[in-house]
Amino acid sequence: MSSIQTVGIVGAGTMGNGIAQACAVSGIRAVMVDISEAAVAKGLSTIEKSLDRLVSKEKISDADKAAALSRITTSTDYAALQGAHLVIEAATENEALKVKILQQLDGMLAPEVIVATNTSSISITKLAAATQRADRFIGMHFFNPVPMMALVEIIRGLQTSDATHDAVKALAEALGKTPITVKNAPGFVVNRILVPMINEAFFVLAEGLASPDDIDAGMKLGCNHPIGPLALADMIGLDVCLAVMDVYFAEFNDSKYRPCPLLKEMVAAGYLGRKTGRGVYHY
Ligand code: NAD
Repeated sequence: MSSIQTVGIVGAGTMGNGIAQACAVSGIRAVMVDISEAAVAKGLSTIEKSLDRLVSKEKISDADKAAALSRITTSTDYAALQGAHLVIEAATENEALKVKILQQLDGMLAPEVIVATNTSSISITKLAAATQRADRFIGMHFFNPVPMMALVEIIRGLQTSDATHDAVKALAEALGKTPITVKNAPGFVVNRILVPMINEAFFVLAEGLASPDDIDAGMKLGCNHPIGPLALADMIGLDVCLAVMDVYFAEFNDSKYRPCPLLKEMVAAGYLGRKTGRGVYHY
């Protein structure tokens, strides 16, 4: 049973609105804050459409939808976050921006409030050190789309307390998620394994060992992956995959994380994946 009844969320984008929806359908109040009325309205309308889809699939009733929406409040003013038992920062992935947001939250929230970040790539320990509550600071890494994905990585910074960890774990369970506990390190667990696997698929392609279709079929049929690594790279964005490898290479200082030259070439050419109409495959 989670003692957290109201969750504050900073950022109403892809992840922020997904987290708000996950809270609201689980009976937890969500206060979602973004910088503009337009961003807040877009986040809320995404939640409404997502709940509509759940109603049409008969996963929830119209009454459930109305109840969930009634648990969500939005604002462009951080003051609305006062009263939340925990605040999850899910703003744009930019270290300087996150430090600024976290310091603002630290100064205005009651001392007992836990602050979590949904960052994918920034050190939890480093972000914690920007606040005066490093023991009450933690990573809560949700997966996209949040309402559908069962996993939450809970990342302990060097100074995260057991009480903070346990409270956040209970919250993740109250949201119907399966949490795993991870020590802070680049990529946490899932992306640390996933992105080097994608990078290796580019080495296999570059060496001419098999065609893209055969590489993807191999991993789908041989490992039961729902999608092959090259098709997945096109979905994630080749530029994002390269940026992640660059971070691992720099942070671990280990040649096993060197980005594949073919991946670099394709990014240089502007073949970024689905979003540019061409990556490994044509769209
Ligand atoms: P997004 O661009 O969809 O949304 C970010 C939102 O933050 C925007 O609405 C923006 O207006 C808002 N924002 C910017 N500055 C703000 C401020 N000062 N105060 C309040 N809101 C502000 O990004 P996203 O994909 O939702 O990513 C958010 C975080 O989640 C990032 O740290 C990202 O690394 C992480 N993440 C993303 C994914 C994913 O697949 N998209 C998965 C896991 C984690």
